[in-house]
Amino acid sequence: MVRARWVTAFFALAGIGMAGEFAVCVEDRTGLPGSSMAAFRGEFAKLAPAAEMREDACLNARGTIQLLIRFHPPSSHPGALGLAHMAGMRILPRLEIYLSPVLRIVHGRLSADLVGRALARVAAHEIGHYVLQEPEHHASGLMRESFADWQLAGEDSGPFRLARDFPGR
Ligand SMILES: [Zn+2]
Repeated sequence: MVRARWVTAFFALAGIGMAGEFAVCVEDRTGLPGSSMAAFRGEFAKLAPAAEMREDACLNARGTIQLLIRFHPPSSHPGALGLAHMAGMRILPRLEIYLSPVLRIVHGRLSADLVGRALARVAAHEIGHYVLQEPEHHASGLMRESFADWQLAGEDSGPFRLARDFPGR
């Protein structure tokens, strides 16, 4: 079975301050339909209840985790579902997730809801790297290194819950 690998790569970026709270500023550059974003919001609220999701013009707002939804991963990381930027050993609140590899994974069961839900799972995973400041993966739960494709596309959020809770604000 083909498994969806969470490819988390790190870019060195200097001078970005750390965020002390979990407001997540989401900017969709792919033009997702409203129903996909609604499904994204719903799933994200389940997986990261401590995070406040913002979709206003908050890009580069201080104290927010920046999450960009882009269509293609960079050519340096083809097939990556999401990436986190890093400066030295520190994971920065600058995260990206990619629509095209998610579409490839869920293509057999394509619906706007399902795409939004799958993207929210990738987003929660990347945010987990930042919040936990752990580039490594866990043996179980949200921060596992890989999931079966059917899990990413599936209705059950259970496999994507963090094995331990995000720290509180
Ligand atoms: Zn990862």
